[in-house]
Amino acid sequence: MKKLIEQYPLTFSNNPDWTYSSLECRGGWLTILDRLFAAIEKHLETLPKKSKVKKEFTIQQIKEKFGGLRVYVDGADDFIYDKILQTEEDSKRICEFCGIGGVMSKGGHYYRTLCHDCCKINDYTPLSDMTKESNG
Ligand SMILES: [Zn+2]
Repeated sequence: MKKLIEQYPLTFSNNPDWTYSSLECRGGWLTILDRLFAAIEKHLETLPKKSKVKKEFTIQQIKEKFGGLRVYVDGADDFIYDKILQTEEDSKRICEFCGIGGVMSKGGHYYRTLCHDCCKINDYTPLSDMTKESNG
């Protein structure tokens, strides 16, 4: 599998062996993650060669947690943290499975952001529907 460092050499300089399968979430979020990596890459390109961020920026983990995307990093600056926050917010409106518009949904004890069809197929219920039901 293609390594991410080939596509984003600066972003993944401290994660040289990462591929898309290192990302612990489903494919629906790859579009927003690609947008994030591209933004970080572009930002790192603008920094001086000896900058601390350029040298130390490391992605610790990218995963789904409580239905939202979580991006854990070290050595980032405010620009990168802003982009990460934005991406994590975006994930709450995008189906983790297929990438179209989704909402927070519950299946058993699990929460995921899913679209209507992925909810149906995987036996999840959108939380907004649950509220409607309990309100009568
Ligand atoms: Zn879906």
